[in-house]
Amino acid sequence: MKILDIKNINNVPIKIDIIEQVGLANVRTDIPMTSQCSITVHNTANNAPSANDEMHHDYFKQLEKDDDLYVGAMIFVAEDSITQILPLDEVVYHTSNSESWYTSISIEICENGNYEKAEENAIALIAYLMNKLNIKLDKLVTHQFWTGKYCPHIILDSEDGFEGFKEKVANEMVEELTNITANEIIEKAFSAPEDWIDGCDLLEQFGAIEGNTGAYYILKYIRPAFEKVYAQGVLDGIEKG
Ligand SMILES: [Zn+2]
Repeated sequence: MKILDIKNINNVPIKIDIIEQVGLANVRTDIPMTSQCSITVHNTANNAPSANDEMHHDYFKQLEKDDDLYVGAMIFVAEDSITQILPLDEVVYHTSNSESWYTSISIEICENGNYEKAEENAIALIAYLMNKLNIKLDKLVTHQFWTGKYCPHIILDSEDGFEGFKEKVANEMVEELTNITANEIIEKAFSAPEDWIDGCDLLEQFGAIEGNTGAYYILKYIRPAFEKVYAQGVLDGIEKG
């Protein structure tokens, strides 16, 4: 995915305002990533009241023109809106570790206003992306993970730390998975059987089948049959959607 494909999440609008490449490839690099296998969480470390998602867009747009600094991040999440400023599949210098540039989607949580709400918005967005791009929970990481920098500082300082943040994302992922319709489940099962089996594991792991009749029947009756035919290679000939 290059551009976020949803218009809003957690009751806030998602705005797409991609910075144009001007001069040196410093903010807009135009270099394709090699994969989108992880998500890196940052805090903006700017609590000025004006330092929202739109302000960061303008700031990085200017940096791209100035050709001075090789920095950036893809998505800025604030209390009342979310702005994507760079493509999700292009190298961005969001840490000083080159592996993070080529493989990790960078998300900044703004600190200018109601931080709790901004963080909730980020949790919903990250859960959506992880489900959509099939990113595993252990691939949700901090800036600190890559370089040791104390970022995202607010999350690292919180009582439950980044593990607590990950748990909230996991709960949100399950919520999203259990809300999908039977048709979507069947469609996913046949277009990406391995993802689907991973999804079942996740549902089971978090006990999401309790009280969810649809998920219960799928896991109890459909899954064993599905895994049987999958193991026999019957699905190999099916056209991928
Ligand atoms: Zn950071």
